[in-house]
Amino acid sequence: MLIDHSTYLKFKESAIQGRYVVNAQIINFLTTLRPEFTVETIGASVEGRPIKSVTVGTGNQKVLMWSQMHGNESTTTKAVLDLLRFLESKDAIATALLRNNTIKIIPILNPDGAEAYTRFNANAVDLNRDAQTRTQPESKVLRDVYEDFQPSFCFNLHDQRTMYNVGDTSKPATVSFLAPSHDKARSISDTRRLSMQLIAAMNTELQKVIPGQMGRYDDAFNANCIGDTFQMLKTPTVLFEAGHFQEDYERERTREYIAYALIKALHCIGEDETKSYSEKSYFEIPENNKLFFDILIRNAQMINPSFTKDVGIVFSEVLKDGKITFQAKIEKTGRLDEYFGHRTYDGRVKGDLTSLKGQNFWELLKQ
Ligand SMILES: [Zn+2]
Repeated sequence: MLIDHSTYLKFKESAIQGRYVVNAQIINFLTTLRPEFTVETIGASVEGRPIKSVTVGTGNQKVLMWSQMHGNESTTTKAVLDLLRFLESKDAIATALLRNNTIKIIPILNPDGAEAYTRFNANAVDLNRDAQTRTQPESKVLRDVYEDFQPSFCFNLHDQRTMYNVGDTSKPATVSFLAPSHDKARSISDTRRLSMQLIAAMNTELQKVIPGQMGRYDDAFNANCIGDTFQMLKTPTVLFEAGHFQEDYERERTREYIAYALIKALHCIGEDETKSYSEKSYFEIPENNKLFFDILIRNAQMINPSFTKDVGIVFSEVLKDGKITFQAKIEKTGRLDEYFGHRTYDGRVKGDLTSLKGQNFWELLKQ
């Protein structure tokens, strides 16, 4: 590992935690950075919130990354704040990253969606389906920055839901990657190969800390997606998806793994090591699957005879009084043998029944 856990804790931006991360926090954070970090307002959202970027480093490799294009996907935002703190440190690796790269970060591209804790912008548009027509101000901002900065690499930073597992295993997809396609045939251009090699490098690094918990995202081509568009424009682009780590609903662990991945990627780009990884190891990362429930109750008929067998419960995040709460909903019932639960209970087991009665979703099961 380039960075270990105790080093990470030294630069983690612990003032910003949890799932609800909004523009005001970012604006405040950016004022605390040292003067060599150039902070700019690069545009405004539909509701007039400023969209901020920060640029640092003097190297030839130019890396552009943006987070919270989907407003409720804040884990990677926390990771880029950690990355910025790392770059501020006098760590030798950080110094090399700044010598070799020029890094431009947009921590929140969709500040209105962040405020409302929703995927969409204030016009209810998914900005990751707006890359071609660019009907929204936020899409124009990103495109303008892209054209002006002319990045050598782009990182498109997102969160994914807790339902994703890795391949057919019971491991959650804590981090998923995609080298987006640039055509329907999903062919491998030199540009796309570089994205794959970079993912292979990050995967190698992360396997050391969360073995078996990296997944590969579906590579179906959609020109309206920003990654596919930048890939078509011949800029190697990587999609990052921050996912679930065991019991980590606040995504504080995942944030750390994303920070490791970002540092590894910037290191590889800066040291020109990307090409030493093979695209073959990209394809060896198992594909994501959707086999997780947040709660899986086997033999739920023992609790309520109206259930035929198992019950799968999912949590959705709801913004209430400035906080995210997790609301349970029964998603699927019947024989759910092939599924996994982040927590699993069995209605036949007395101890499981006792602990179920203490849970906030107990009432759901009694109806
Ligand atoms: Zn997303």
